[in-house]
Amino acid sequence: MMTAPRIPGFVETLPKLRGRIQADAPLAPFTWFRAGGAAEVLMRPADADDLAGFLSRLPNEVPVHVIGACSNLIVRDGGLPGVTIRLARGFSTISPETDGIVAGAAALDVTVAEHAAAAELTGLEFLSGIPGSIGGAVAMNAGAYGGDLANVLDWAEIVTRTGERRRLAAAELAFAIDVGVAEINVSESSVFSSIHPQLPVAAAFNPESRVIRRETIRIARLDEVFAEFPKGRAFLKIDTQGYEQQVLMGASGCISEFLGVQMELPIIHLYEGTWRFQEAVAYMDERGFEISNIAPVKHQRNTRRSHVEHRCSQSRAAHAQPRQKNKRAQQSAGNAAGSIRGVDPASGPGYGHNPARLPSHRDR
Ligand SMILES: Cc1cc2nc3c(=O)[nH]c(=O)nc-3n(C[C@H](O)[C@H](O)[C@H](O)COP(=O)(O)OP(=O)(O)OC[C@H]3O[C@@H](n4cnc5c(N)ncnc54)[C@H](O)[C@@H]3O)c2cc1C
Repeated sequence: MMTAPRIPGFVETLPKLRGRIQADAPLAPFTWFRAGGAAEVLMRPADADDLAGFLSRLPNEVPVHVIGACSNLIVRDGGLPGVTIRLARGFSTISPETDGIVAGAAALDVTVAEHAAAAELTGLEFLSGIPGSIGGAVAMNAGAYGGDLANVLDWAEIVTRTGERRRLAAAELAFAIDVGVAEINVSESSVFSSIHPQLPVAAAFNPESRVIRRETIRIARLDEVFAEFPKGRAFLKIDTQGYEQQVLMGASGCISEFLGVQMELPIIHLYEGTWRFQEAVAYMDERGFEISNIAPVKHQRNTRRSHVEHRCSQSRAAHAQPRQKNKRAQQSAGNAAGSIRGVDPASGPGYGHNPARLPSHRDR
C-alpha cells in the first residue's frame, strides 16, 4: 500500500480560515464504501468567502481535491496528499424561487428534489433517485430517468483554485459539451480519430486505427452553431467516433428543430466512455425520436458479434407527446423545479460552489 507523502507540520503552514481544518483526517467514514485512506489535510470552509480567502492564500503547488457526498468516489488506501475540501453546513442552503431553486453545493440531490416538490415546481424530479450532493451532480452531470443537470442547470457559482468567485452560465461548464478546446487522438486512418481514448480492441479491429499524434482542437456546442443556420428542414448526421452523446448534449436547445438524426452506434466498443446502443436509443426516445432505420456499418471477423457498429437513423415523431416517465418519476411529477446553489463544474479547477440556477416552471 502506497501512502501519499506527508510533510511534517504541513497543516500549520496553511492559511487560516473560519471553518475547520484537520490533519491526517480519515476519509473512509465519508465514503459510501467506507474504505480508503486519510486526507493529509481536510478543510471544511465556513462559507464561500472563507473558501475563497483560503484558496487565494494557498500556495500553488499544494494539491487540492474536492469531495462531495462521496457516493461516486473510492479513495486510495494511501490517502490524498495536500488539501481535501469538503463543503458542509455553509453550503447546504436551498432556496426555492418563482421559477427555480438555488441550492448549495452540499445540499443533497434528494433534498433539492423534495424542496422543489414542496414548492410545486417541476423539472428536478430526476434528482430524487441520485445519491450525492448538488456539487457532485454538477461536476459529473448527474442524470436519471432521462433528465440530467446539463438540461436543467441555469448557472453555478464557483470558487477557482486561486480563490476567485465566479458565476458561470451552464454553457460555460464542462459537461463535455462545452465551448473551448479538447485533445483529439489522431489515427493513422483519420476515420478512427476520436476525442475518446481508444481501447485495445481497436488495434485488433484495424491496425490503421493506431493513434499517431494528439492535436488540440476547438470545440463548441451545436446549440450555438445551429443558431447561425436558417431554420427549416434540418437533418443532423453525427459521426464522431464515440463522441455522439456529447454532441447531442451540446444540442439540448436545438435538438427538437431537427427532423431526423443519424449516428453511428457501437456494438463492439473501440473507444473508452462511449454509450451503449440501447442508451443512445433511450436518450433519443426521451426527446421524441423514433428509430426509422438501422444498418450495419462495420464488421468484425472471428467474433459472434459480427457488427462493430450500426448506422441508426431516427426521425422526430410527428406529434411527439412527452414520454411517460417510470413509476418513481411519475410519483413526484408535477412538483420539482430547478435552480441550484453551490457547485463546481468539471471545467477545471473550481472548488466549492455557490448558486447555480435551473430554469423551471410551475406545473399548475
Ligand atoms: C447506489 C448509487 C446509485 C447512483 N445512481 C446514479 C444515477 O442514477 N445517476 C447518476 O448520474 N449518478 C448516480 N450515481 C453516481 C453518483 O452518486 C452521482 O453521480 C453523484 O452526483 C455524485 O455526487 P457526490 O456528491 O457523491 O460526489 P462525490 O462522489 O463526492 O464526487 C464525485 C466527483 O465530483 C467532484 N465533486 C463533488 N463535489 C464537488 C464540488 N462541490 N465541487 C467540485 N467538484 C465536486 C469530486 O471531486 C469527484 O470528482 C449513483 C451512485 C450510487 C452509489
